[in-house]
Amino acid sequence: MVRPDWLLPIERPPIHQGFLVLSHDQIQYLGQDLPSQFEHVPQIRLADYAILPGLINSHCHLEFSDLALPISAEKSFASWIQSVIRHRATATPAPSERMSLRRAAMDQGIKESYDCGVRWVVDMTTSPWQAEWVETSVLAIAKAARSWAKHVWVPTIPISVQPCIELVDVNETRLEQTRSFALSLYESRDQQQTCLSPLGPTSQLEAESSIRPVGRLGLAPHSPYTASTELTRWSQRKSFEQHRLVAMHLAESFDEMQWIEKQVGPFESLMRPFVNENYRSGLGSVTERLHCLSQSWRSLVVHGNYLTDSELDYLGLAFEKMAIVHCPRTYAHFGHGNSDGQSMVTRYPMQERMQMGVRHFLGTDSRASNPNLNLWSEAQSVRATQREVSSLDILRMITTDPAEFLRLPGGVGRFQVGSQAGLTAVKLNKNKAATIYDCLLSPETTTHPLEKVLLNEPISPAASEIEKLR
Ligand SMILES: [Zn+2]
Repeated sequence: MVRPDWLLPIERPPIHQGFLVLSHDQIQYLGQDLPSQFEHVPQIRLADYAILPGLINSHCHLEFSDLALPISAEKSFASWIQSVIRHRATATPAPSERMSLRRAAMDQGIKESYDCGVRWVVDMTTSPWQAEWVETSVLAIAKAARSWAKHVWVPTIPISVQPCIELVDVNETRLEQTRSFALSLYESRDQQQTCLSPLGPTSQLEAESSIRPVGRLGLAPHSPYTASTELTRWSQRKSFEQHRLVAMHLAESFDEMQWIEKQVGPFESLMRPFVNENYRSGLGSVTERLHCLSQSWRSLVVHGNYLTDSELDYLGLAFEKMAIVHCPRTYAHFGHGNSDGQSMVTRYPMQERMQMGVRHFLGTDSRASNPNLNLWSEAQSVRATQREVSSLDILRMITTDPAEFLRLPGGVGRFQVGSQAGLTAVKLNKNKAATIYDCLLSPETTTHPLEKVLLNEPISPAASEIEKLR
């Protein structure tokens, strides 16, 4: 049993100095008063902490997690992409070395995310990638956590990664490479799920309703400058038929918009060596991509910084199946915001867009545009820059709202009896803010997996006594 200063289920009122009972990977009880059947359960008092649902990072590229510093974006978005391509080419010379470097980067990113209290990561995934890499990393985290102290409960699956496989069709070769990679992964994962579920393909979704290190594979037509309307439509059909998530970078930069609309600007020299005539002639618009995505099972519009009012209205109407993923520190890294594309950071119009009904989640994007994968810093950055958005709404964007939207298994991202107990602890500072939610998002608070902070706290009765109680 845990008694923190605050229990914050988010979708229900905060509970001050209440009780949380965890058992067998599940939340058994949370509330203000302790029912008599739990009176003799060993107790940990967690002073200066609040407990939240597990955090959900709705956009990341774990493959870049080995970068010590973000890649400079001073010149333009197009020059940043060029540097990322160069980094990939120089950092990964030989195929065998490429595999092990990629695996190590993924492992680093998963550990870093977990240490910041993240329990679910939606990742844009490219080849080479293997589900086994993720499974090994996640199970190693669980094993390490269990070895720290035997008296503390640790979730069986402490963090999950949901890969959306990147699709690109700027030329025939890239289409063939990315689409066959995606199809082979879907096939092999589906086969595994079918084995787990003897009732066959119809119960694949049910088989995936329990928490696993690798979440249900999704699709990621990369962006309008790399994935045609036709490929977006293909992804949408797969998503609709197979209940797969689609994630797509859309209207992220001024450079991109200029190229999509007129095929001019810094993107023209960037794209010329890769793009064939077929792609150019069927380039299509951002609006077309948006309409395609709206027919998917669920879609994440990543960034969407330069969407027009009519496109935002459209997103607002489709809020049950579409959401924008805003990456605040990446937004600042690129200095978005003004209409002529010159470098100058202006505020992302979050409140205005929310009033149009547009649903928002938060993501870290990658270490190529962000100093780390700390999702809590993204939420704190929104708190610092978006005065009109309530702290409770910001907290929803990284917990219960994406959990419900993404239909996450086993109660990930929720804080209720019966949910898996992958919870996040927030170390509070002494800040006296108006509400506990404002206090939570003030600077210098930090987030951790709950089980990690419990390890350092005294338990009563003592651990040796608990063994006897088992
Ligand atoms: Zn991204």
